[in-house]
Amino acid sequence: MRVFNFSPGPAALPTEVLEQARDEMLDWHGTGMSVMEMSHRGKAFLSIAEQAEADLRELLNVPSNYKVLFLQGGATGQFAGIPLNLTSPDSVVDMVNTGSWSKKAIAQAKSYVKVNVAADAGDPYTSIPPVADWKLSPDAAYVHYTPNETIGGVEFHFVPDVKTAPLVADMSSTILSRPIDVSKFGVIYAGAQKNIGPAGLTLVIVREDLIGRARPETPSFLDFGAMAKNGSMLNTPPTYAWYIAGLVLQWLKRQGGLEAMGKINQAKAEKLYAAIDSSSFYKNPVAKDARSWMNVPFTLAKPELDKTFLEEAKKAGLVTLAGHRSVGGMRASLYNAMPMEGVDALVSFMKEFERTRG
Ligand SMILES: *Cc1c(COP(=O)(O)O)cnc(C)c1O
Repeated sequence: MRVFNFSPGPAALPTEVLEQARDEMLDWHGTGMSVMEMSHRGKAFLSIAEQAEADLRELLNVPSNYKVLFLQGGATGQFAGIPLNLTSPDSVVDMVNTGSWSKKAIAQAKSYVKVNVAADAGDPYTSIPPVADWKLSPDAAYVHYTPNETIGGVEFHFVPDVKTAPLVADMSSTILSRPIDVSKFGVIYAGAQKNIGPAGLTLVIVREDLIGRARPETPSFLDFGAMAKNGSMLNTPPTYAWYIAGLVLQWLKRQGGLEAMGKINQAKAEKLYAAIDSSSFYKNPVAKDARSWMNVPFTLAKPELDKTFLEEAKKAGLVTLAGHRSVGGMRASLYNAMPMEGVDALVSFMKEFERTRG
């Protein structure tokens, strides 16, 4: 039996995608082999790779002056890759701190470049500092922010208008959740394991004029120019993760694309927040205009019941609801693959738990 898996990542994948992967596991399209066993340079895999890129470009409406790279090393790899590709050691970069993942990006960037923390939401990181107050540097190489803080559940529902420098975004937990205007960004990057596909694949969408400027010491697997020139195949790419991501992209197109996904995702999140707000037992600490559609943290009025809540939820087929170890409480992640029925089941469970235990 499939459960409703609210994992923040690696996260649930659409059942249809897993079924298709199962059906194609031993013999992909008459090749007599699994995608896992194919040469990444062979015709079969190249067709998979090209289709995935074409579908991604179509879904996100990626302008032709952007390259799409299928890399490894996770978003964490890009915490180093971005400064190595876009700066020299004496550059300044502007970074916005809205929580756990921003902090990690900032800490890593500091190894390579001078970091100006242009804005800091401050503990407990439940809001977004107004863009008008950001202290941007006149000569920044880029402005980096985290559109969705996966742990804190804080999300930008707008793209900050920074005219000063290219905008760089860690979209690990929000990419493909709604339409975005790619042309507003210099670089978008994302680990795949939240909303794209399996762990092991890292997506980078980069404007062409930002390619080819990597520092000489940049490891080639992080070098946008070297990877772009080689179709992301300077070395062996994560072929199976790339293939599954491709199946997810085709599934997204069948759902009606990102316009449709955005509507569903908003409706899912609003339903859960409404349930939380209408109760005196559950609470979400995030400022209303910054509440994430993707990751919904909440606490119980009686934290001593946390364990019971998780155990009973599991019995009801609702799993991976524990909050991040740094914040405690609960967190429901509602990426694309979580259907509305999962949210409905969670909301009914929460109401019943409150009625009987609250
Ligand atoms: C999960 C996550 C990361 C870390 O991704 P890895 O692929 O594990 O390096 C970074 N940023 C955000 C916003 C995330 O959600």
